[in-house]
Amino acid sequence: MSTSDFPTDPKIDALVARFPRLFHHRHPRVWSDLPQGWTELADQLFADLDAMLDDDAASVFKVIQIKEKYASLRVYWSLGEEETLVLDVIGSGSTQRFDKGPTDPTALFERIRACVKEACEQAETTCQVCGNGSASAVGSGWIVTLCGTCRARADKKDDR
Ligand SMILES: [Zn+2]
Repeated sequence: MSTSDFPTDPKIDALVARFPRLFHHRHPRVWSDLPQGWTELADQLFADLDAMLDDDAASVFKVIQIKEKYASLRVYWSLGEEETLVLDVIGSGSTQRFDKGPTDPTALFERIRACVKEACEQAETTCQVCGNGSASAVGSGWIVTLCGTCRARADKKDDR
């Protein structure tokens, strides 16, 4: 099976095509996908990063994975030898996230990290389905970030 046989998320394809300096014409190393409602947000994040990084920095910047996890956006990336690592600790009814990075990060690494963090925080109040900005995480077990309208629609589906 060649890599082209892999199903890919067209929303990720669009990011790879739009930001060749950041993605180097390749999909993230780890299989990635993006909820429909967060496409604009991700697009804005990579536009910001594209503007922030000069060619040298962009050449060592790598997107490792983009995905939704526990109703929030995760973007794993590295800059040269520096890499982020996110650990999820799941307790009863709550999830805690620890964002680990290099012990002595460069200023640029910190700037990228702040930019990614802001987008991820924005995702926590953005509906995964429609992109509405007044959403919140709902559900137990399978948690999703939904606005009132999409939540009502999902509840109706469950009742059937
Ligand atoms: Zn919605």
